[in-house]
Amino acid sequence: MLIKKVFYLLLFFSSMNLYSQEKYKEKMIGNNPALPTIAFVITGGTVAETQNPKTKASVLGPLDTLIKNLQLLTDLANIKMIEFSNIDSSQMTPEIWGKLSLMVDKVLMDDNITAAVISHGTDTMAQGAYFLDLTLKTKKPVVFTGSMLNLSDYYSDGPFNLRNAVIQVINKTPENWGVTVTLNGYINAAKEVIKTNTINFQTFESGQKGYLGYVFGNKVYALNDVIYHNKFPIPKKFPKIYIFQDFAGAKDDVLKFMANQNPDAIIVEALGAGNVSQEVYQGVKYALDKNILIVITSIVPKGGVFPVYGDIGGGSVLYEAGAIFSRYLRADKARILLLLAIAQFGKDKEKLANFLSMQ
Ligand code: ASP
Repeated sequence: MLIKKVFYLLLFFSSMNLYSQEKYKEKMIGNNPALPTIAFVITGGTVAETQNPKTKASVLGPLDTLIKNLQLLTDLANIKMIEFSNIDSSQMTPEIWGKLSLMVDKVLMDDNITAAVISHGTDTMAQGAYFLDLTLKTKKPVVFTGSMLNLSDYYSDGPFNLRNAVIQVINKTPENWGVTVTLNGYINAAKEVIKTNTINFQTFESGQKGYLGYVFGNKVYALNDVIYHNKFPIPKKFPKIYIFQDFAGAKDDVLKFMANQNPDAIIVEALGAGNVSQEVYQGVKYALDKNILIVITSIVPKGGVFPVYGDIGGGSVLYEAGAIFSRYLRADKARILLLLAIAQFGKDKEKLANFLSMQ
């Protein structure tokens, strides 16, 4: 037990060294000793963007407009602004989230900083927030936020979302919530949250488990709780994991191609409660024979996957063949969990199946 603890501590500090060399630009906004001080970490995304007057496209660039908006929040908190990156969230990677997680933990070790708000693009926010939920050591509140319209837009949701995120972290909320995604007033658990709308402000939802709460006025109203959290160290190298989405008429060609690249795991986004066609089932068996983990999720957003059906390719047959089931985590989230869990435990099927069934 003690040896195990020392091992993980060493792993944590060695990865901390690996990632914590970089220096980020910092700026203090507000200096009121009566108010709490929070960290505001910029990673990019629409909330850091403005409109290019010539092309009318939403573009990343100087952060002046975002900084002006943060200055409007000094009635709530002093803000230590940290420029971690300025990228569209489609460019995020597990390696970048690893750096972000270690940096946020380091910043929150400062007793004067009570919480962190991370601004991030909405396209991969749900995955990034889950990665940090699984890896952060801190017990202080950490909230991801962003916006659907950039800050040049008169009707941008950015200012509202930034304000609500700061209100959330300066209020007392359940430690059990872990990392949240908070936009349009709604607070979502990192594990459950899904981006459901490409353009509308009300895009982040929590499926059948429901919102954790909402921000209204200067208060947080709790609706729900998260009972189970996993924690993992950040590995130096991530396993190779693909996602295959099933569809009517799919053959075994793509799965076999994936299997031939020798990944550690392939997540199959199956139909319904976890079923694939006979041809795709041949692809699954091909991958299993190569000792590649097959993880079954569903393209259906609610309900979960269950090994029910006994025809060829049915969930029960997939289960008997050796596939493991990710009951509630959708494919992108199952991948985030497995990036960390496989790095820690290797391809221990029983342990991984256990983690996936506990979500
Ligand atoms: N393209 C943006 C991103 O970085 C979308 C957004 O932030 O809403 O994900």
